[in-house]
Amino acid sequence: MSTPNDGTGMNPFAIAQAQLDEAAAILELAPEIHTLLREPLRELHVTLSVKMDDGTSKIFKGYRVQYNDARGPTKGGLRFHPDETIDMVRALAAWMTWKCAVVDIPLGGAKGGITCNPKEMSPGELERLSRAYVRQVGRILGAEMDVPAPDVYTTPQIMAWMADEFAFMRGHNEFGMITGKPLALGGSKVRDEAAARGGMYCLREAAKMLGLPTKEATYAIQGFGNAGHFAALMVRSMFSGTVVAVSDSKGGIFKAEGLNSARVLEHKQLTGSVVDFPGAEPISNDDLLELDVDYLLPSALENVITERNAANIKAKVVGELANGPTTPEADHILHDRGVYVIPDLLCNAGGVTVSYFEMVQNAYGYYWDRDMVIERLDAKMTDAFHAVHEKARDLNVHNRLAAYCVAIERVAEAVRLRGWV
Ligand code: GLU
Repeated sequence: MSTPNDGTGMNPFAIAQAQLDEAAAILELAPEIHTLLREPLRELHVTLSVKMDDGTSKIFKGYRVQYNDARGPTKGGLRFHPDETIDMVRALAAWMTWKCAVVDIPLGGAKGGITCNPKEMSPGELERLSRAYVRQVGRILGAEMDVPAPDVYTTPQIMAWMADEFAFMRGHNEFGMITGKPLALGGSKVRDEAAARGGMYCLREAAKMLGLPTKEATYAIQGFGNAGHFAALMVRSMFSGTVVAVSDSKGGIFKAEGLNSARVLEHKQLTGSVVDFPGAEPISNDDLLELDVDYLLPSALENVITERNAANIKAKVVGELANGPTTPEADHILHDRGVYVIPDLLCNAGGVTVSYFEMVQNAYGYYWDRDMVIERLDAKMTDAFHAVHEKARDLNVHNRLAAYCVAIERVAEAVRLRGWV
């Protein structure tokens, strides 16, 4: 396997497989189904040559992993990141498979990525890179085959360029081949805030189940990207809660009386980081995770809660808006200590749920209003939350394992019905 990309010594795909193995043992899954679900069905590796602004050409590596399509076309984001590796993409593709099954939408799982540093690229270079990716990978994409979406460092604009390039390849528009598009090009209302909003519904339900308040409560949010910054805004607008700390890749800020999330967002838009926000104290990303808060929302990258710091997490509830923030060892430590973890494949599934709504709207060419999307998202997330919560109680396992069990039972049923084993 290739080297891990996060400096923790842990290979994300090995983690995804270990999580599956644990659930398979509990479910007494048939060995042939287990073996099938341990590996991606298909993957495509591409080499992309892009003309840079200085006249040189630069070569990039890109990937698309279609993990499993037993339940429907594969679905999952595209990540542009300097540390992207094939094993990271495989792990994320596996997680997408389980995520779509947990929220019970008729899609399989996939993920894609390009190893690049978008922060050092001009808009023109990013456009040429995005189009080059579709020219290579477009042959295995399509509304009924495999549908990408935004992920870390990819945007609605990038989705628009990709939809446009694909239209040229096919000779007609096929907007449902990609989601997270701008509204003017077949995007869905609420898609931009969907991951965070779905996470808020999970927090609301968890609070009810645990008898905790959401209003007189403190929140720390690691990561201020798409999911993190919307979560910071919604903690205030939906719960009137107090966000005491937020962070990004450059560092974090803390204020015991509460941060004004909208102001922090303005500051980040102006300066490129939350760091140095007036009136707040600096805090490291590591210290933020260990703050004495009610709710901790890891919303950045994978492997941040590990066996090294799990014993120091003081939050009562951890809501994973990031993919893969907690390692399997840390899961057990948190569970033993009574920390209620809402796992990524449930907590951030609002993103792909509204992506699915976007595909449906593209398919019939009729667009829903904001209230309709919100109502349907809430219903999906609330059902999924309780399916996982009940499974955890029935099997007496931690929530991630319960979510895996819910998902794997559904995927395994489709595999069996199709006669694949
Ligand atoms: N990248 C997001 C995720 O990890 C969204 C995927 C999608 O909408 O297809 O869930």
